[in-house]
Amino acid sequence: SSAPAPAPTGPTRRATRKITLGPIEVGGDAPVSVQTMTVTPTHEADLTLQAIAAAQAAGADAVRVAVPRKEDAEALARIAEHARIPVIADIHFQWKYAVMAIEAGCAGVRINPGNIKKHDKVALLGRLAAEAGVAIRIGVNGGSLEQEVLDEFGGPTPEAMVESALREVRLLEDVDFFNTKISVKHSDPWTMIRTYRLLAERCDYPLHLGVTEAGPLKSGSIKSAVGIGALLAEGIGDTIRVSLSADPVEEVKAGIAILESLHLRERGLDVVSCPSCGRAQVDVWTLAEDVQKGLEGRIDVPLRVAVMGCVVNGPGEAREADLGVAAGNGKGEIIQKGERIATVREEDIVEAMIHYATEMAEEIRAE
Ligand code: SF4
Repeated sequence: SSAPAPAPTGPTRRATRKITLGPIEVGGDAPVSVQTMTVTPTHEADLTLQAIAAAQAAGADAVRVAVPRKEDAEALARIAEHARIPVIADIHFQWKYAVMAIEAGCAGVRINPGNIKKHDKVALLGRLAAEAGVAIRIGVNGGSLEQEVLDEFGGPTPEAMVESALREVRLLEDVDFFNTKISVKHSDPWTMIRTYRLLAERCDYPLHLGVTEAGPLKSGSIKSAVGIGALLAEGIGDTIRVSLSADPVEEVKAGIAILESLHLRERGLDVVSCPSCGRAQVDVWTLAEDVQKGLEGRIDVPLRVAVMGCVVNGPGEAREADLGVAAGNGKGEIIQKGERIATVREEDIVEAMIHYATEMAEEIRAE
């Protein structure tokens, strides 16, 4: 009998700088990460943390939150402190909120050159972000290019979008800021593909890919798979977001499916824990560490395990994980593929998780 065929490897990726986004890296040899964006009002910090928990349980590597108002900016410290994945503040117009996001401990800030026009403010943000070790995404959008670039290029062409991005990049470089990633999103996948190709030729920063306003679940997923997938297949792209008019969890699932299609993400054991909002009834981080230690070395198949801090919302938020536990009130509810299958005492949680995870791993292996 012949040896099994080796697993296919994904496309060779474009060489880029590597930047840091909180605890993760983007670009260089870092794996392509999946992002999403919450749709809860950001100022409702607990609701937003719960949405982050669900996105993380589905496999999100980073999350962006909108900061349209001052109260949203004021909630960032709490969100950034509790979230277990990097939080990126999405800033429009108000550069002051970007300052607040940096001070709040966000891992990244996204600014749109079409909205923050004053060059001295961009320079200021670059200096503050450099000091704090925060990443900045220059997020150009075909629908909101600055007027002077539109006039110069006669419309939101690929050249115009790339030029808008690189001008903003230079403002940051002028203050020695290089922890930058760039996106040049457009709602038309073919225009988006051509724009990113051009940008990839003209700089070595890591690129955040996305088709903007892609639409509802089905058509949006197809457009995103075409735009993001085509570029990734060419080796372009270091972090991605599928934007859908749907639950962020759906965006994450679509993003992961795109990466898996191209062998850019292979799943193994993945233990995630909820950010633990005001509802938390246990020390969820310690519990997650114990579960991680208990499972390490025992699971050699793709299995995502979620450890959630309360029995009220935990089961719902963990529904996209393969196995979950929602702990609280001295007990743990074990959740398998979204279904509650058992309730155990708190001190028996780790043992129960090992039992069910091992059982699931055997089933997966037998498939
Ligand atoms: Fe969700 Fe409960 Fe964790 Fe809060 S404590 S994020 S509601 S699981």
